[in-house]
Amino acid sequence: MQAIQISKTGGPEVLELVDLPRPEPKSGEVLVKIEAAGVNFIDTYLREGRYPAPLPFIPGQEAAGIVAAVGEGVEGFHIGDRVAWAGTRGAYAQFACVPATGLLKVPEGIGADDAAAVMLQGITAHYLAYDTYAIKPGDTVLIHAGAGGVGLLLTQIAKMLGARVITTVSTEPKAELSRGAGADHVILYTQQNFADEVKRITDGDLLPVVYDSVGQTTFEDSLKCLRPRGLMALFGASSGAVPPFDLIRLSTMGSLYVTRPTMKDYILTRAELERRAADLFNWIARGKLNVRIGHRYPLAEASQAHRDLEGRKTTGKVLLIP
Ligand code: NDP
Repeated sequence: MQAIQISKTGGPEVLELVDLPRPEPKSGEVLVKIEAAGVNFIDTYLREGRYPAPLPFIPGQEAAGIVAAVGEGVEGFHIGDRVAWAGTRGAYAQFACVPATGLLKVPEGIGADDAAAVMLQGITAHYLAYDTYAIKPGDTVLIHAGAGGVGLLLTQIAKMLGARVITTVSTEPKAELSRGAGADHVILYTQQNFADEVKRITDGDLLPVVYDSVGQTTFEDSLKCLRPRGLMALFGASSGAVPPFDLIRLSTMGSLYVTRPTMKDYILTRAELERRAADLFNWIARGKLNVRIGHRYPLAEASQAHRDLEGRKTTGKVLLIP
């Protein structure tokens, strides 16, 4: 099978197209023929070595496809089933073996592209809006990178929950997309100071929560957007990691909370994973959640996909098609 392999960490050029034997499912695993694999920021952290992984490895954390074989002891999955997953590495390939415990059936009517697109970013948007901070009707929330993969989904979910949504984006075309997802106020944070804008928009009331995936360049001003006892949900580092932080500042800035959530801790049980995925599939089927597939690249162009994601050139979901 064809796959993208990383044999040494580095820039996008280390993503190499190789021929490898098709994997065999071990006990408890399912072999999936991949139709669409998602590209996520975490793939770039692993590629660079910022998150360590034993070499060589096939990157990619999520995909959708068709069951091609089932390993010993697997119940509930059969050859031909349409499935999707997030959280098992090896998706930048024509086939991957996935533990059945992490695999979901894709309902009729949901395409492979949409299914792959909402595994990691959709489940993330879901847990951020329902659990990291439970959005209530009337809340005003700030979502950074509003035209990104998570940003567009989180904006729509926050609107469903009755929030007033402020987003940040870098360009006018991205602002247009963010408004299309329901954002009430879009700030061009490359041109305006977003903390000043948030203060103005909220008449100085500030916010109960900021969803910050950008990290280094936004963290300090994000804190300024929070009202006393507000929550900073720092869930990514697209611009780089936030430097060490003196906790006493949380006290002087208004008894603030900071959390650094990650998906695995919000899908602790099979039931929790299924509940979040079921909501997402349901909303897509009913036309309540619009999944924007911004970019589809052939598998061989994985390095270009990484360059574009890191270069702020993408909007919505980035997919690789094997
Ligand atoms: P996005 O589609 O949001 O892409 C990143 C966006 O961040 C860019 O398009 C850009 O939007 C913005 N950005 C701001 N500064 C920079 C910079 N210096 N370099 C690159 N991008 C920048 O990506 P995803 O939706 O895939 O992921 C968003 C973030 O969420 C990532 O940091 C990712 O690691 C994190 N994440 C965390 C999860 C978790 O469970 N904790 C799960 C999934 C994702 P603009 O041009 O508008 O500024």
